[in-house]
Amino acid sequence: MSIDAAKNQVAEVARKMAELDLVSGTSGNVSARLPDGLMAITPMGKSCEAMSAEDIVVVDGDLDPVEGELMPSSESLMHVAIYAARENVGGIVHTHAVYSSAVAAVGMTIPPIVDEMVVTLGGEVRVSEYGPPASKAVAERVCETLGNRDAALIRNHGAVAVGADPETALAASVLTERAAQIFVLSSVIGRPTTLPDEVVASESAIFEMRRAARREKMR
Ligand code: 13P
Ligand code: ZN
Repeated sequence: MSIDAAKNQVAEVARKMAELDLVSGTSGNVSARLPDGLMAITPMGKSCEAMSAEDIVVVDGDLDPVEGELMPSSESLMHVAIYAARENVGGIVHTHAVYSSAVAAVGMTIPPIVDEMVVTLGGEVRVSEYGPPASKAVAERVCETLGNRDAALIRNHGAVAVGADPETALAASVLTERAAQIFVLSSVIGRPTTLPDEVVASESAIFEMRRAARREKMR
């Protein structure tokens, strides 16, 4: 993806994230991987609703500025850590969505209760250990909790989802929030059951195949 295309997509996904009510005010951030160890990321403290391509900052792996006037997102360390750990990730979306944050506030993992969670996100959505916002500790904990999956909850904070590009990461964020909502609501009316182990195994194989195809496409 060219730098201009990445800036446009990051800004568009940030606006959509606000429209979809996955964030409010200046919360949340979005990034895209660029060639040569660079990334395009939303700036710190700017409302997602009004994000434009000109606001997007380009930084290198040490977070030194390459393009843009504004400061990069305060969660840039988390984005850098995920790109370093996951070569098949080209876009990252961090939200403060309500149901995801509710599950994260009680420190629960969303178990695999609907099929699309396994096929699309890689299975259960785990919750990280707590780390202060913008810290190296939260970056490392979230990265470790994410592992090879495409979504994780951030303890007492929100959620993060990844994909081949920011658009795909936004779709994974929407699905994460829906899974959290289904988990909370089904826990109110009864006791949600997890998918049978053999179903999780076969659906995980589909997730792995899709992931391998994505890695090839990104090369
Ligand atoms: P930034 O505005 O610095 O991206 O921070 C928002 C956020 O969600 C912090 O966790
Ligand atoms: Zn946040």
